[in-house]
Amino acid sequence: MKFVITAGPTREPIDPIRYLSNRSSGKMGYAIAEAALESGHDVLLISGPVNLNPPPGAKMISTVTSDEMHDAVHDHLHDCDVLVMCAAVADYKPANVSVQKLKKHQARLSLKLIRTRDILASVAKPDRPFLVVGFAAETTNLEEYAQKKLREKNCDLIVANNVLTGIDSDENEVTIFSRTGEQQKISRAPKKSIARELVKPFSNSCEKRLTKKM
Ligand code: C5P
Repeated sequence: MKFVITAGPTREPIDPIRYLSNRSSGKMGYAIAEAALESGHDVLLISGPVNLNPPPGAKMISTVTSDEMHDAVHDHLHDCDVLVMCAAVADYKPANVSVQKLKKHQARLSLKLIRTRDILASVAKPDRPFLVVGFAAETTNLEEYAQKKLREKNCDLIVANNVLTGIDSDENEVTIFSRTGEQQKISRAPKKSIARELVKPFSNSCEKRLTKKM
């Protein structure tokens, strides 16, 4: 199967040297890429800026902004069986990017932010031929928010984790929720083991989806 995996943060420029970003390390997405390769799948990793080496054998596209990641994902959907949207895409970006470095003249500075495009919501059309896996990183009401995201973003599966313990860490603890109502909890473990546990349900769900369509 062909896996397209997004990973890491995005950076939304404020001026030529400053940006808005988040603490995503990219470790979960890279671990899923490695586990998918180990299971014999083809992998395209679309990654924001991280300090990780790409897993040998993965095709790589490096992106910086949410708009670049959006375009890279859309350019590769024609060749995708399983789309895993693990990246921590910024929700907002500055409305205007200053061409020159902003100077500190005023005591207070307000930045006007606008919503970024939601890449996941933009790909998950009901008639799409590939499986879509979203991620839900929450600090509270994990299950409620994950179920809401599963429906609203029209994913087949959503992997929920508590960011207070999972972000920027080598370990994670996740629950997979499926559109058909199943749940599977994967207890706290290194991200590499969690990734191996995730690839199985991803490929099984993709196969089920394909057989249903035939
Ligand atoms: O709404 P929220 O950001 O919590 O949703 C998380 C899921 O949506 C993740 O799978 C993430 O990769 C994806 N996402 C996206 N584009 C955005 C925001 C989130 O693809 N602008």
